[in-house]
Amino acid sequence: MSSFCVVGSGISGATIANLLSKRHLVDLFDKAKSIGGRSSFKRLDKAIGFDHGTQYISPKSPAFKKFIKGLIRKKILKNWNGKHLFLNQAKNEKKKHTKVIGRKGNNDISKYLLKNINCYFQSELKKIDYKQKKWNLTFADGQKKIYEKVILTCPFPQLTKLCKKFIKNSFINKKVKMDANITVMIVIKKTNKNISSYFFNDKILGWAAKENSKNRFKSNLDLWTLQSTYKWANKKINKNKESKDLNSKVLIEQFFKLTGIKKTKTLFSFNHGWKYSSNSKPLNIKSYWDSSLNLGVCADWFVGPRLEAGWISAIDLFKKIKK
Ligand SMILES: Cc1cc2nc3c(=O)[nH]c(=O)nc-3n(C[C@H](O)[C@H](O)[C@H](O)COP(=O)(O)OP(=O)(O)OC[C@H]3O[C@@H](n4cnc5c(N)ncnc54)[C@H](O)[C@@H]3O)c2cc1C
Repeated sequence: MSSFCVVGSGISGATIANLLSKRHLVDLFDKAKSIGGRSSFKRLDKAIGFDHGTQYISPKSPAFKKFIKGLIRKKILKNWNGKHLFLNQAKNEKKKHTKVIGRKGNNDISKYLLKNINCYFQSELKKIDYKQKKWNLTFADGQKKIYEKVILTCPFPQLTKLCKKFIKNSFINKKVKMDANITVMIVIKKTNKNISSYFFNDKILGWAAKENSKNRFKSNLDLWTLQSTYKWANKKINKNKESKDLNSKVLIEQFFKLTGIKKTKTLFSFNHGWKYSSNSKPLNIKSYWDSSLNLGVCADWFVGPRLEAGWISAIDLFKKIKK
């Protein structure tokens, strides 16, 4: 049995770790406090909280549809019904969209896939080195670990920083541009508008989702997740830390203006800036495996901008490792 280190607990890391664990020893590390990467769930209190990355899954490929159906059957995922308003008429996706969400949060898939795997959180990998056919890993807290095989699932800019010199494929020299997103989670007084989500046709605000319409918890307040457009976030993201209040205010104002919901006091608000949200230009490979160094990479940005892309990349990597 060889030992694998997987870095990242999003869909890509969770999928590859789960598949490898059937035959190998697997440890998983993530720099975040909890599971799910860009599908994480911001908890306010017990079950109450916000999906502040992935909003819903809309499976496209037959294999992923099958995987998602299986998780619905196992009651890990469910459909998100309700009234989804497309103010962005150009897309007109209204009819065909299925919206699948986690029963408790959109990190439920990662939780399910990683339930039997040793996971270490708040463990940021800072440096990797290859010596005597082993990977020497150094973490932010100074810990050092040795593994035979390493799989990385970080966003592209973070990957290049960590291991560019070890990757022997031209994809690593490409300029993979990952768009940003600024997300604001708010709690407001309950309104009588029975809408679950809005797609906007706006330069600033892209999407708003009413968390309590997902029927995971009951609340006498309304919880909304507001996500900016990529264009607006790309301009603001580098200074978002210093301008959180201002950027939140702009998104909240826009939300009331575009939805027509009567402006009320914001009882709670939390701003999260995603520097690397998604890449919409797929590469010409789905994952990367170097069998001489035992180094692998899988992530959504190889394949596309959605959670499904991360799953496809991880499945592809697993096939390469098995060969
Ligand atoms: C705001 C937003 C909205 C989105 N909405 C949707 C949607 O509605 N539907 C959809 O299908 N997709 C959506 N997406 C895209 C989807 O979230 C991603 O495609 C998917 O989650 C990517 O999964 P991944 O495992 O490839 O990467 P990630 O989820 O980013 O996982 C990578 C993990 O690696 C960890 N990591 C990185 N570097 C290190 C390091 N050095 N050491 C340790 N750990 C490290 C990170 O903490 C992270 O947990 C959205 C994304 C964002 C940001």
